[in-house]
Amino acid sequence: MALDDPHILKNIQTKLLIGGEWVDGVEGTTIAVENPYDGSKIADVAEATAADVDRAVEAAEKAFPAWRALAAHERGRLLLKLADRIEDEAAELARLEAIDTGHPIRDCLALDVPRTALCFRYFGGMADKLEGSVIPVDAGFLNYVEREPIGVVGAIVPWNFPLMFTSWKMGPALAAGNTVVIKPSEITPLSTLRIGELMMEVGFPAGVVNIVTGYGNTAGQRIAEHPRIGKVAFTGSTATGRRVVEASASNLKKVQLELGGKGPNILFEDANIPAAVGGSAFAIFHNQGQACIAGSRLIVHESIADEVLERFTALAKSIRLGDPLDPETEMGPLTSRLHQQRVLSFVEVAKGEGGQIMTGGKTPDGEAFAKGCFIEPTIVRAKPGDRVAQEEVFGPFVTVLTFKTEEEALAIANGTDYGLGAGLWTQNLTRAHRFAKQLRAGMVWINSYKRVHPASPFGGVGQSGYGREMGFEAMREYTQSKSVWINVDAQTPPFYRR
Ligand code: NDP
Repeated sequence: MALDDPHILKNIQTKLLIGGEWVDGVEGTTIAVENPYDGSKIADVAEATAADVDRAVEAAEKAFPAWRALAAHERGRLLLKLADRIEDEAAELARLEAIDTGHPIRDCLALDVPRTALCFRYFGGMADKLEGSVIPVDAGFLNYVEREPIGVVGAIVPWNFPLMFTSWKMGPALAAGNTVVIKPSEITPLSTLRIGELMMEVGFPAGVVNIVTGYGNTAGQRIAEHPRIGKVAFTGSTATGRRVVEASASNLKKVQLELGGKGPNILFEDANIPAAVGGSAFAIFHNQGQACIAGSRLIVHESIADEVLERFTALAKSIRLGDPLDPETEMGPLTSRLHQQRVLSFVEVAKGEGGQIMTGGKTPDGEAFAKGCFIEPTIVRAKPGDRVAQEEVFGPFVTVLTFKTEEEALAIANGTDYGLGAGLWTQNLTRAHRFAKQLRAGMVWINSYKRVHPASPFGGVGQSGYGREMGFEAMREYTQSKSVWINVDAQTPPFYRR
């Protein structure tokens, strides 16, 4: 590679951020970070072990009293400054994210980076809007309720949207007055480290944010079980979410879980077909399908199935796969080799279940794709009870199911253990409302899919987790209430009166 090769990242941060210092891990070991496009090594980042998490928690505990005591608008001001710096650095952050994750640069520029800045900005503005309340209680008493920060918050972020998810967790946690120990996935730690650098630059006090780049089963596990972390916010698989809950029992810490999904995306017979097909392709193929809210089950009314499938398959075949740094690329590689293999294994599962592979189901041919973790956009016709229609594949892999009646569509849509995002396409307003109400999901998109905004709550039900990110609800999630009673002019109660 030439030295001016755009794939080479210079001066990237690779150390742990603990107590305002960039340091090596206690063990002195490192983790190699690879570019999923060509398998080249991007960096060796310091490996945080349990001892480093302990150091980070100590630093966060030390920083907490002053951070919570800071005027809320001052905390907000720092988050707003950070949002500005992210916008200044948009091009570089987008390149960093594209190289580390395989996201196409056009998506990083249009979605990941602006959404990250918007999220920090939203919570920067929210910092001084968190009000308490006065409760009407017994005569003679004033009762007020304040919302207080929890203390040290542990944040565990996966590899699919590392930059954005860093803001989703740190934005509300910091605005509410908590200090943070955050662990990005060891597969994609670079953008979180860069955010850490920007935070130091804009003046976040030492220890308010600590970044530990370690493996899940060591550093992640320690965060989940740490006796002095008051809350852990986790995004990842349902299986690991369960382990986090078990580990959290050590000190009964508060847990927020944003887990997997198997998003139903229903096309009724009166759908605007071109819009629904385009929206459904975005629902599943954006970010190579590596999204918990992906519309991974396309549920189509029988009467329009042929036309929808013809258009949808043609669109899938036309998606431009390639180098994530090429602005023309619409789909990059999956984020790791291990994950690519995991997704491909579902193709075999589909075949074993009698599923019909309509397109894709393999790595693309050609020299350009030889070293990358690519998979072609894959469409599979299956039955509602099949494993591929029940389990999260988390790749560019969509299962097509058909229905005759609204009741049947609802039964299929609600027929998995998950309940995160769901979409429906219809011109019938009454049906849209009726159906949205009955869907077992934390978010519903009508004639659209996968809309997110920092002001709107994000999260799921069932095996998709509990708690909500974003919006005012997130501020509540990162605080706890304290009820204060004042005897204003009440008589001493009759008990034990002497
Ligand atoms: P995991 O759930 O294992 O990883 C998510 C995060 O949890 C990572 O930061 C990981 O660290 C960390 N982690 C792993 N083990 C522990 C632990 N014992 N305690 C605390 N934290 C831990 O997901 P995988 O990467 O293994 O992906 C498997 C599947 O999970 C995917 O195929 C997909 O279905 C689902 N998934 C869902 C996501 C979502 O957005 N809801 C995101 C990612 C995956 P590290 O990576 O360093 O091991």
